Amino acid sequence: MDKQNTPPICNYEDSDYQTSFWDQGGREYEDRTEAIALKRLLPKSGRLLLELGAGAGRNTPRYGGFERIVLLDYSRTQLEQAQQRLGKSDRYIYVAADVYRLPFVDGLFDTATMIRTLHHMADAPKVLAQVRNVLGSKGVFILEYANKLNLKAILRYLLRRQTWSPFTLEPIEFVKLNFDFHPRAIRNWLKGLGFEIESTLTLSHFRVGLLKRIIPTGILVFLDSLFQWTGALWQLSPSVFVKAIVTGRDGRLPFPTNIVEIFKCPECGHSQLVDRKSYLQCTNCNRRWEVKDGIYDFREPMKN
Ligand SMILES: [Zn+2]
Repeated sequence: MDKQNTPPICNYEDSDYQTSFWDQGGREYEDRTEAIALKRLLPKSGRLLLELGAGAGRNTPRYGGFERIVLLDYSRTQLEQAQQRLGKSDRYIYVAADVYRLPFVDGLFDTATMIRTLHHMADAPKVLAQVRNVLGSKGVFILEYANKLNLKAILRYLLRRQTWSPFTLEPIEFVKLNFDFHPRAIRNWLKGLGFEIESTLTLSHFRVGLLKRIIPTGILVFLDSLFQWTGALWQLSPSVFVKAIVTGRDGRLPFPTNIVEIFKCPECGHSQLVDRKSYLQCTNCNRRWEVKDGIYDFREPMKN
């Protein structure tokens, strides 16, 4: 695959995102409403889950029913934070890679999640197609996206405080590499890729600074948990969760006996890599992908 053709990447390398945004950023309400949505949508158990844009592993402990979890992020330092949080056990596989060029064999995973990640993607359909490829038969995809058709944007548009229309299907880049999507555009993309949408939940109905300051978080979380179900009828909240199921695909790969068999070369697509301890080597194009301190790095091949 030609690297030049892949869109730009929002990189969290060396970012203190986990601390500044989540731990001290007054995001307890958002975090707790996401926990509720995940509980409602996630299969109770499973074999292998792919977490796309795992960051520092904030949501990972919520995948308790799964035997193994692959944490994927473009930022190596985010994954190092996740390692510190979760530990280096066989249950977690840490992978630094570009979501436009996923380094996994087709049909591998039974579930994938992508939360607060798609909004950094300049070419969302391309990413969704990659996810579709690595999911097996009846694979479950739980996707969170930022909704351009939210009440605040609609009001601002009607009051002429905002130039872009929340009603049109194209994504809006409101800050560089930050995109909001129209719910119908997301549905169209997913259906076009052969996903069937099983359920939709709306989140963060009360993401308003004043409300968050004056109303106890527990009450807002409870109200939001009730409102989440209205997502089946309409989607006007800033955050939306969709559960989509892969249709029309037969079979799922058995979990490989050797971990190296889950990977493919992101450069040439070949699925036979050889484990050389400090790197994996593609038997087709000979490119080498570094393995260091428990992190598989597929971002750039090793130089020499
Ligand atoms: Zn290769």
